[in-house]
Amino acid sequence: MRIGIIGAMASEVDGLKAVMSDMRAEKISSVEFCCGLINGCETVVAEAGIGKVNAAVTAQTMILKYGVDCVINSGVAGGLDESLNIGDVVIASRTAEHDMDTTPCGDEAGYITGLNRVYMDCDEKLVRLLCECTREMGIHTEVGTIVSGDQFICRDDQREKLIGVFGGKAAEMEGAAIGHVCAMNGVKFAVIRAISDGANSDSTMTFPEFCKMASENSIEIMKRMLTKLADTEE
Ligand code: SAH
Repeated sequence: MRIGIIGAMASEVDGLKAVMSDMRAEKISSVEFCCGLINGCETVVAEAGIGKVNAAVTAQTMILKYGVDCVINSGVAGGLDESLNIGDVVIASRTAEHDMDTTPCGDEAGYITGLNRVYMDCDEKLVRLLCECTREMGIHTEVGTIVSGDQFICRDDQREKLIGVFGGKAAEMEGAAIGHVCAMNGVKFAVIRAISDGANSDSTMTFPEFCKMASENSIEIMKRMLTKLADTEE
């Protein structure tokens, strides 16, 4: 089994590349893809860049060029659920693109014409294994909807919409684009995000301060996840 891991920023993937053996790197469409072994698992790691388009290009390349069996999007996010503190984790049960809006044509908010739905479901087995990882590590974890859009969320009106309209537990800028691409290709996917800020008026301060720490949390979870995936294959 070959696992694709996508992060948006260097801090979200460098710690994985650092423990990769037999690494081969190749640049495609300005994105570097690193293939090798991590904790016994054949893995492709890429730093996609910020936002949905970068995430989509990277996911599509992983699927077509590297033939990955699943894609896991790992990194940091703004917390929407009241119970979440910085460093806690949200594992997506499903994703939605909160800035996809054809409501004037009579569609629901977030509706993706073609796939004809709002929410992309994550793979249940990947979700279960990710939950096992955070439980073993003693990290407070919420499972639910992760919403993505090409916006940094730091205002009350944005926050309220994401909670009220989509039932979002965390807001970020890539996960749902990866879910969209995976759904188009029939490839399993999951999203795991450590909370770097509260997606509120403090976020312009808290995000830069806690991004590194939260990224490290997500990397430790992914390392454990890869060990589990290697074990479940045997
Ligand atoms: N130029 C900045 C941009 C950061 S954008 C930089 O490179 O540091 C924020 C990134 O973290 C995105 O990849 C997004 O997925 C995630 N993120 C964290 N908190 C977020 C929030 N409150 N709203 C949206 N995305 C958030």
